[in-house]
Amino acid sequence: MSVPSHFSATYSEARQKFLNACEHRGLAVESYHNPNAKGREGEDLFMDVARMGPDSASKVLFVSSATHGGEGFCGSGIQVNLLEGGYLSELPEDIAVVFIHAINPYGFSHVRRVNEDNIDLNRNFRDYSEPLPDNPAYREVHNMIVPKDWDGPAREAAEKAIEEYVKLNGMAKFQAAVTGGQHVHANGIFYGGKKAAWSNETLRTVSKKHAGDAKHLAMLDIHTGLGPYGYGELIYVGDLSGIDRANEWYDNEVTSPESGTSTSAPVSGTIDKGICEMAPDATNTCVAIEYGTIPLMEVLNALRADNWLYAYGDVDSDLGKAIKKQVRDAFYCDADDWKEMVWKRGIETIEKALKGLEKS
Ligand SMILES: [Zn+2]
Repeated sequence: MSVPSHFSATYSEARQKFLNACEHRGLAVESYHNPNAKGREGEDLFMDVARMGPDSASKVLFVSSATHGGEGFCGSGIQVNLLEGGYLSELPEDIAVVFIHAINPYGFSHVRRVNEDNIDLNRNFRDYSEPLPDNPAYREVHNMIVPKDWDGPAREAAEKAIEEYVKLNGMAKFQAAVTGGQHVHANGIFYGGKKAAWSNETLRTVSKKHAGDAKHLAMLDIHTGLGPYGYGELIYVGDLSGIDRANEWYDNEVTSPESGTSTSAPVSGTIDKGICEMAPDATNTCVAIEYGTIPLMEVLNALRADNWLYAYGDVDSDLGKAIKKQVRDAFYCDADDWKEMVWKRGIETIEKALKGLEKS
């Protein structure tokens, strides 16, 4: 089977390929059902988890997909290629690899970045007993981001306002304002929510079960939508104390939003926080691998359109269908060369992570 054939066109297809691949490898799958939502085709939604390596392993690598829903076409394809290709058949001693398929199955199925509550899970991992952080810059741009109509005068005015904002403040500040995360506008984008989402709680359960006693926890969380076509940027996430180690593992290719070396703006409330909190004794080396698709402004516009569609529009209308195609194209390049590129970079990175874990 070719590399592209292990990628899928829908969440259901991707899930079935993952389950089949686990069966072929003799791996048991734990399936966590999301009781709060259904898929685009009315199907049930699951976060599926499979573990390779001994139960007692003290070093654990998580390889996860679809934190951002529709970005899961890429991550799932990498996971299935790895399993079906027979990779990692002999793991180094004392190491386990845990595959988490579809952290956000609702978003994967509906081809959305957010979950069933319009939450961006990578802004949702917070201590909710503390006051939520403010993002005054987002407040300034919210009305431009979410106009009331998508093909009329409100949209035109919004585009003009964005153009002026960027001219005045620069693209980096616009990106930071929009994508930094916010907890005020529940119908806005990059909304972090006001409590832990189902995926948050479920991921913590998975982490506690598989890495609760671990001495070293590594994560590769697979994303798409930022950076050059098919290139996988390794973005360090979490507590900066581990960035030097991450650079040793990954040949000095690790970037960091905080130091301005990444295509991503600084964000907080990311999933690594939840995973690491459940493994209190573990040293952490967490990285997001972010694959480029189409230019940033087109990705942001697709996310805005999708946000408008679910706030004010009709998914089954012609405009709705056009927007859904726009969003899919922002997350996933349905082209063989792109799939070959993301897979090659993916497996090389996973192999580096295992070498790094072995030495650490
Ligand atoms: Zn993402």
